[in-house]
Amino acid sequence: MSFSENTPRRTFLQRAGLGLLAAALPVSFVRGAGAAPVPPAAEALRKLQAGNLRFQKGQLQHPNETLQRRREVALKQTPIATVLACSDSRESPELIFDMGLGDLFVVRTAGHALDDAVIGTLEFAVAELHVPLLVVMGHQRCGAIKATLDSINSGQLAPGDMETLVDAIRPAVVLAKGDGDVRYANVVKANVQITIDRLQNSKILSQAVASQQLLIVGAYYQLDTGASEFLT
Ligand SMILES: [Zn+2]
Repeated sequence: MSFSENTPRRTFLQRAGLGLLAAALPVSFVRGAGAAPVPPAAEALRKLQAGNLRFQKGQLQHPNETLQRRREVALKQTPIATVLACSDSRESPELIFDMGLGDLFVVRTAGHALDDAVIGTLEFAVAELHVPLLVVMGHQRCGAIKATLDSINSGQLAPGDMETLVDAIRPAVVLAKGDGDVRYANVVKANVQITIDRLQNSKILSQAVASQQLLIVGAYYQLDTGASEFLT
């Protein structure tokens, strides 16, 4: 792990800078019919929200999956968002945001744990592909979170390299409040927040946020409803 555990605690708003204000605006404003140009990150966020709404309702459009689209993106990609998500088989970003080929740049590890390769991949999305939005997405009933809770409760180390995941998630367990399922969900959300904090240690990512070329937002995906709730 390349990041420090001594990351300063800051709010989502401070972390995302002014860019988050655009994301927090009502969708009607973000569309900006005839008004000022819509910031790319806000437009990307709007598209993700719209796609997720279609997914929740079972009204998928399956955009950008045609032969023509495949040919369009064969030589060049311009994804609208990067998604750092858990590897869980029920949280596939392209499906839950109803996106197609070339739309999302996706990195997935259990519990969206970071290491140098993950951070380098996220930096590539910003520095080389100029992707304006980065979504860090945890989810309901995350197995990696459960394994961490079990390890801490039992005092037993997780087998093999899975202890690396437990180490990465442990600070979220310390931070989260509540009991039972509420605590479980709060650990997931705290893990999203801590992951975003740790990303600030990347000079490439933090400078992109500071210059408003990148907006980083957290999200919590509900397995039960299909809703991806953006955390602000
Ligand atoms: Zn998970």
